[in-house]
Amino acid sequence: VIHLEEIRKSYFIGKNELPVLKGINLDIFKNEYVALMGPSGSGKSTLMNMLGCLDTPTHGKYILSGHDVSKMEDDALARVRNKEIGFVFQQFNLMPRLTALENVAVPLIYAGINKKEREDKARFMLEKVGLGQRYKHKPNELSGGQCQRVAIARALVNDPSLILADEPTGNLDTKTSVEIMEIFGSIHASGNTVVLVTHEEDIAAHARRVVRLRDGLIESDRLNEELVAEHVKSNS
Ligand code: ATP
Ligand code: MG
Repeated sequence: VIHLEEIRKSYFIGKNELPVLKGINLDIFKNEYVALMGPSGSGKSTLMNMLGCLDTPTHGKYILSGHDVSKMEDDALARVRNKEIGFVFQQFNLMPRLTALENVAVPLIYAGINKKEREDKARFMLEKVGLGQRYKHKPNELSGGQCQRVAIARALVNDPSLILADEPTGNLDTKTSVEIMEIFGSIHASGNTVVLVTHEEDIAAHARRVVRLRDGLIESDRLNEELVAEHVKSNS
């Protein structure tokens, strides 16, 4: 699904260049479940925004589901994004004036689907994330965990090939985080590719593979079962 070659990304503040990603090589295959970790400022969100086609790299190649998106213009990029990507943010990013149902249906408007079908699909997705009863509520009438469920339903509604989540449990208490992670677990189990940023080892333990960034480079890339095996060994 994802192929990254020597990806670099700098931000320019006036004439000053701030290099953030410094040569990332990474492949993520269909139906993988990857946790992206690393210290604050290491470039996780920068990488996620690029993976999610919200931004393009300064240098390097990004192939997403067969499309070379590294040098695409904004509108072509937006088209790929709408088709291929479901993005879940830490702050939910819901539209405050729309109901849960309307929020979930937004990506379907861009996909050109008619109103009846949009509502049916959105309703189905809300039921899938356990919010079937709350579809008429607006974000400020929902708890943080419920808002995140709406955001997850919205990310899934277009049946994207890649689900990206940047600290989806960062604003949630432990119990709610566990519930949200169960949803990501079932999303993965039903055949989706999931990449999720987290600071917490407990959350990363839900994934199958853990990629760690440090100073804009991949520091390590391991399968969780290897990590568990090492842990058992070092404790025996
Ligand atoms: P955190 O764990 O705190 O979310 P992160 O690993 O997600 O950190 P990024 O948000 O990718 O880190 O930021 C990496 C670096 O790039 C930081 O030094 C940040 O200040 C800088 N940066 C991020 N976005 C921009 C931007 N739009 N313009 C300029 N600099 C930016
Ligand atoms: Mg971040």
